[in-house]
Amino acid sequence: MSASLDSPVVDARADGATRTSAQGLGELCVLMKLGEVVLKGSNRPLFERRLQNNIRAAAKGLPEFRLSQRRGVIMLRMPDASDLEVAQLAERMRNVMGIVWVHLVRRVPKDLDAVVDVAVRSMADRSGSFAVRARRRDKRFPLTSSELAAHVGGAVKQAHPHLTVNLKQPDHALQIEVDKDEVFVFTDGMPGQGGLPVGMSGRGLVLMSGGIDSPVAAYRMMRRGLKVDFLHFSGMPFTGPESIYKAYSLVRQLDRFQCGSRLYVVPFGKAQQQIRNSGAERLQIVAQRRLMLKTAEALADRLRATALITGDALGQVSSQTLANITALDDAVDLPILRPLIGMDKTEIMEQARAIGTLAISELPDEDCCTMLTPRQVETAAKIADLRQIERRLDAEELAEHLAANVQLHRPSFFGEQADAA
Ligand code: ATP
Ligand code: MG
Repeated sequence: MSASLDSPVVDARADGATRTSAQGLGELCVLMKLGEVVLKGSNRPLFERRLQNNIRAAAKGLPEFRLSQRRGVIMLRMPDASDLEVAQLAERMRNVMGIVWVHLVRRVPKDLDAVVDVAVRSMADRSGSFAVRARRRDKRFPLTSSELAAHVGGAVKQAHPHLTVNLKQPDHALQIEVDKDEVFVFTDGMPGQGGLPVGMSGRGLVLMSGGIDSPVAAYRMMRRGLKVDFLHFSGMPFTGPESIYKAYSLVRQLDRFQCGSRLYVVPFGKAQQQIRNSGAERLQIVAQRRLMLKTAEALADRLRATALITGDALGQVSSQTLANITALDDAVDLPILRPLIGMDKTEIMEQARAIGTLAISELPDEDCCTMLTPRQVETAAKIADLRQIERRLDAEELAEHLAANVQLHRPSFFGEQADAA
């Protein structure tokens, strides 16, 4: 996938020293292509600032860098760092929402011979076909884009006769971008996450089980620009702490997409028992989920989160029928976002694998919901019945009490203090 990481253009020495200038290869930099951020009209400066803050948070612990931005592109330079450190920076940028492509590029002076030299060397270990794609952000450059592409392509072909030219579907696209003060030469890029910068769409609270679905739901909302906090209900004191460990590892894994995640944990066992004692029977599961949502709403108020997020998918389990989902919406005033509502389990699992949460979700644990599952689960819960159970329980006060007694954890992917948005 990351061909540019092991190409000879990236010449990292184990001792961390840089040898780029000595070889005249040009400084290695990270060039990133932005997606929808560029479309946002007059709000653009705000979005760009948000993205830049998120980039800084994601680069925590790496050497200092200089950031410059022009329309649709962000460039990071680390002039004193080793190639290895620059490659690490590029790898981190692949997690930052709002970035569509990450390229490791050589920064070359605006001199045609220098460009040709770097281009030729960067193709040295390649086989198969190639094409040169040139573009000029600076129209004063003496050659047009197509002249530049033809010139560089000819030189590469002459130096490496085993390579063939294929302009339509090349194995390697060698890219030359002429900028204001310099030229960037690079080959294949690495896909980023796309989406919008985290924090741009506000703040949400994810109801996070230890299962497969809720981490994927969190990821999808982060990718649409929500900064999220997480709330987990454990069955304690009637279960062990395993589900908390799972929730913690899941949030840690997701933290690399937003930097600075908070996980709130509620011991829910006693409340579940109270629900059962109030005669919930077949409504036990839906009544529990309503109490979870009410607790989440009380906490969201304190956190200034303006939406709740769950991993519900229509019809996936009996508590997720349309009637039951309607009954869940009735429990709170805040909107409940359900990004997985129309997805198949196989699609959800595929995405969970891609974001690195599937293996954690599949670890065994004692989920609080399975603890008091009735033999038969109501698939068409009536809101009036649920409200009656809640009156007996004094559910609003119970939710306030649970929300006031949460435990806070800060699972961090890159270590303490990284906090963006
Ligand atoms: P998941 O894989 O996310 O656990 P699921 O398919 O097992 O989902 P349910 O157990 O019905 O489905 O849960 C639906 C949603 O309710 C979850 O995606 C999550 O948002 C929320 N939820 C369920 N259990 C918990 C819990 N213990 N703590 C926090 N949220 C929960
Ligand atoms: Mg579950």
